[in-house]
Amino acid sequence: MEEPVPRPKLTLVSMSGLRVGHEELLQRGLKLPGLARRASALAQLPPLGLLTIAAMVPESWDIELVLDDGASDEDAVAEQILTGISSPIQPRVVAFSALTPSADRAARISERLRPHKVLTVIGGLHATAAPQHCQPSFDAVVRGDGESTFAKLLADVAGGTLASSYQADGSFSLSNSPLPRWGLLGDHSPPRYTIQSMRGCPWACSFCAASRMLGPARVKPDERFDAELRAIASRQSRPWIELADDNTFASGRDHGPMLESLRRHGARWFTESDWRIAKQPKLLRQIAESGCRQILIGLESSVFRYPGMGAKNADWQRMLEAVDAIQEAGIVVNGCLIVGADGETSESIEKLGDFLEEAPMGEIQLTLQTPFPGTSLYESLLRTNRLLPGNFSRYTLFDVVYEPDQMTAEQLQNEFNNLVERAFRTEAQSRRDSIQKQIRSSRRNAGKQA
Ligand code: SF4
Repeated sequence: MEEPVPRPKLTLVSMSGLRVGHEELLQRGLKLPGLARRASALAQLPPLGLLTIAAMVPESWDIELVLDDGASDEDAVAEQILTGISSPIQPRVVAFSALTPSADRAARISERLRPHKVLTVIGGLHATAAPQHCQPSFDAVVRGDGESTFAKLLADVAGGTLASSYQADGSFSLSNSPLPRWGLLGDHSPPRYTIQSMRGCPWACSFCAASRMLGPARVKPDERFDAELRAIASRQSRPWIELADDNTFASGRDHGPMLESLRRHGARWFTESDWRIAKQPKLLRQIAESGCRQILIGLESSVFRYPGMGAKNADWQRMLEAVDAIQEAGIVVNGCLIVGADGETSESIEKLGDFLEEAPMGEIQLTLQTPFPGTSLYESLLRTNRLLPGNFSRYTLFDVVYEPDQMTAEQLQNEFNNLVERAFRTEAQSRRDSIQKQIRSSRRNAGKQA
């Protein structure tokens, strides 16, 4: 009897992990507790984009998922992809999803695979913004929403007509979003699951690569959101959810049904938003009652107001009042701050450090201004010759990659490293932990009284 012909295999490679290129910060920073906690949470998020694409792959393909944490040897990762994990068959197509700092690593792994007659493909935000950077190392580059182009790409592979570039037209509707193939994670249940309730953002902050890169801002219909949450709840009761949104409450939609769905499933959840939710007490109450535990709020730079922030632009005091209101509602604010914008000096960084000693936020995120390709910040620094030479691996959010206007790049890097060390030292983190504890306990008391 003849052996059955095996199905062609597609291997999906997620390049995850928080990459800190600057050696000194790597030594000092990632050992600091608060930073390490968020880094670990990010590294463990499942690759939602690839799992969603996987759900649209025809059954005639076998699929394998490889999670690359950025720490393993690149030869070993390439070998693992070639020999397979669950099925010992060499893949026909390997599709990478990478952000800017991991794009060069993806390219090097791709270069190791191509001599073995494997077709390699890259998609995601970086490939969309900088296709010319990716093109030489991959057989095809997918730009825009992968959902609208990937089935065609696989059909072209089957027909021997793979093109070097696939461009989505931005018309993909999230009402056609399939349920992600969580089964590809096997028995592994991640600490947090992800759902996207909207894609993009109506604002266009000049440093933000996520806002409109994949097309106009779009929302996922309530019934699709609920179906995804039900699928997750069947794998993990009272799930921890991280909404994979850029600015969850920026759309004009009625958020009631989505929040009710989160409440009904007993979810505890995290998302990113802007401070203006504090202006809507009813919405804030609903968000808290639906299980929201933490919201990342972009306070951005303490010295510079970025173009494109639209209605989220406000003075520091107004935003701090919003932080108080959100935390009084029982939700921890993770205040997100950018260091190194135009106007930044040693004094302003020192002042920011002083502010953080007493700031009301229960958590903070500190990053260096990073001009990701595709942003107007990148274009303007490129035009004025202020981008430092070097590769995209340094676009980690923790490495200076441009000439600041008031200090040298080296000074800014040193001042930033000192600030990170100061802001994440044990006593500073303990102070924020006790703010979080207080918020949790008032939430519990409010729950008992209700
Ligand atoms: S509000 Fe947030 S998501 Fe929207 S453009 Fe600005 S930084 Fe990006």
